[in-house]
Amino acid sequence: MAGYDYDLFVIGGGSGGVRAARVAAALGKRVGIAEEYRFGGTCVIRGCVPKKLYVYASQFPEHFADAAGYGWTVPEASFDWRTLVANKDREISRLEAIYKKNVEGAGGEAFHSRAMIVDPHVIHLLGEDRTVTADQILIATGGRPAAHPALPGHEHCIFSNEAFDLKELPKAIMIEGGGYIAVEFANIFHGLGVDTTLVYRGKEILSRFDMDLRRTLHETMEKKGIKILCHAVSEEVRKRPDGRLDAVLTSGQTLTVDQVMLAIGRIPNTENMGLEGIGIEMTPAGAVKVDDYSRTNIDNIWAIGDVTNRVQLTPVAIHEAMCFVETAFKSNPTAPDHETIATAVFSQPEIGTVGLSEDEAVKRFADIEIYRASFRPMRHTLSGRDEKMLIKLVVDGASRKVLGAHILGPDAGEMAQLLGIPLKAGLTKDDFDRTMAVHPTAAEELVTMYKPTYRVKDGQRV
Ligand code: NDP
Repeated sequence: MAGYDYDLFVIGGGSGGVRAARVAAALGKRVGIAEEYRFGGTCVIRGCVPKKLYVYASQFPEHFADAAGYGWTVPEASFDWRTLVANKDREISRLEAIYKKNVEGAGGEAFHSRAMIVDPHVIHLLGEDRTVTADQILIATGGRPAAHPALPGHEHCIFSNEAFDLKELPKAIMIEGGGYIAVEFANIFHGLGVDTTLVYRGKEILSRFDMDLRRTLHETMEKKGIKILCHAVSEEVRKRPDGRLDAVLTSGQTLTVDQVMLAIGRIPNTENMGLEGIGIEMTPAGAVKVDDYSRTNIDNIWAIGDVTNRVQLTPVAIHEAMCFVETAFKSNPTAPDHETIATAVFSQPEIGTVGLSEDEAVKRFADIEIYRASFRPMRHTLSGRDEKMLIKLVVDGASRKVLGAHILGPDAGEMAQLLGIPLKAGLTKDDFDRTMAVHPTAAEELVTMYKPTYRVKDGQRV
């Protein structure tokens, strides 16, 4: 629209916002994007990317130990936390610059500023003390770790944001939560040599995953030396005279640690942006409410990514951005597809999963076949590491459709990406059976489990 400064103004320079800005700008639209912190957002700056780098760092002690079975003698290794943090910082600065450059390269204008919507077509850029106008506005401000103000002593606790940049590696840490972040960081800290305790309120960690994976991961983590306390939450965190922390648990235990990290979910960033002022509707969870096409209740204002609290995953935000551009700028209304999303937990061993868990499938289908293989991965035969790999397919007995694929073991995340394709395509177990195995691999089990391990008929295992 010629009357406005921009055709599109994006608030938030994370994965979703940057993608929408870049693709819209490449279409020839006049695009502005404001980011108050660092371009790249949670994923690049303090989420997926640095997390994966820290996962790699934390895996070396096991690699060193495993090498002996293959004939190697590895001298005593030492680890320098500050080197890791500095190298991570260098890498994310590189990526941050690329994110910004990609927007500008496509013709967009990037601002380092907080933005407030003051009218459905007017945005105030606080950092520049300047007001701009836009035909369409996209809110892509992401989320942040949920605070825990009800916990006495919560001010002594850290979140994932701080965990990446601690001045010193703690000797002992307690992590509260049983989701992606708690489990991934428990493995990272343990691998780096930190005495680690995971405290989870439920009966088994990773509540949204297949129970087989949850139990097996729990056992494997404990075997490595990570303490996992279920049915427990912290009641109070007290600072001791020596500077350490006492975490008092509902189970009656008190853990003395150097850091307490809370990983109890993430909440949308919607405050102090003028949303209430212009009447944007919110969900009860405080997220921006959108329709199937990511449009808010105000026609020209849209929202994507974690701020909408649909599925808090980077690739989902990027997909929503692409759909938004199709809908808003290409006259091709496209609703994001949130069905059958493959995902990985970068625990050690990794989880890779797509589709329905056994329990979910049993609730929806009368006749379920479970194909399950549990075995020692080949690389652990000579290393002697006592760790099992688990591969499981959940199949609808009536249609033969593969409803779920669940893997625990090395490279499970990579496998989940590939399994996302046949499951999304609705392929059957017969299609899997017709596929030639790749040998010797762990993934060949996916196409060589010819007979069900068991069936579940009308909820009963037979
Ligand atoms: P999750 O929702 O995965 O897990 C939150 C955990 O905290 C759950 O175990 C929950 O228990 C527990 N919890 C919630 N409230 C409390 C409370 N008041 N006291 C004690 N425990 C509590 O959130 P995360 O913070 O781990 O991660 C946020 C999101 O980020 C994830 O949902 C995921 O979408 C994304 N993410 C994705 C990653 C990946 O793709 N690999 C990596 C990291 C994050 P309960 O289970 O009982 O509800």
